[in-house]
Amino acid sequence: MAEAGLPPAGLVKATAGIATLLAEGIGDTIRYSLTADPVEEARAGRQLLEAMGLRERKNVDLIACPSCGRAEIDVIDVARRANEAFGDREIPLQVAVMGCVVNGPGEARDADIGIAAGNKRGHLFVKGRNVAVVPEADMVEALVEWAEFIAEHGAEAAVARVDTEKAAREAEKDRARLLAEQGDDVNASEQRVDLISKLS
Ligand code: SF4
Repeated sequence: MAEAGLPPAGLVKATAGIATLLAEGIGDTIRYSLTADPVEEARAGRQLLEAMGLRERKNVDLIACPSCGRAEIDVIDVARRANEAFGDREIPLQVAVMGCVVNGPGEARDADIGIAAGNKRGHLFVKGRNVAVVPEADMVEALVEWAEFIAEHGAEAAVARVDTEKAAREAEKDRARLLAEQGDDVNASEQRVDLISKLS
């Protein structure tokens, strides 16, 4: 698609067009045409192919929760800093940044590695297994260190060097504290659903 315009709208338009063709098996070459630095165009093409499983992953796939009433951190800021820290490093892992330890490790259990915040701490998990606890200020640094280790030595070697039961106990402690403080329905989901259904 030519002349898609400025990101992010241009990215959305171009991706809608290119991905549709690729999903149909049409085309051998793709090119994003964005009103942006050509590096952005190349990165978008690579990321689309990796996301569609059409190219072997070479770089980090950073996923993050949308944040909600449970988050004690600014998820957008931590995810953005993690994204910058990983940059274009060739670490072919899915890395998760999650706002809370109540649901984060479960929601991102398929990620190769992730971190979830709680009680001013970051709870690191590998494939859903708690592995370590770090101060909240060190979340991004710890995430990068662990991802580098896993990329080089594998997840099992990374898990083998720590006491996972202790990490799980610490996570459970912070999870219980958050649940006690915030209750089961911190997002007031039922009231919101009720309100939306009355409006519609
Ligand atoms: S429940 Fe936790 S992990 Fe899920 S969106 Fe909210 S803050 Fe993020």
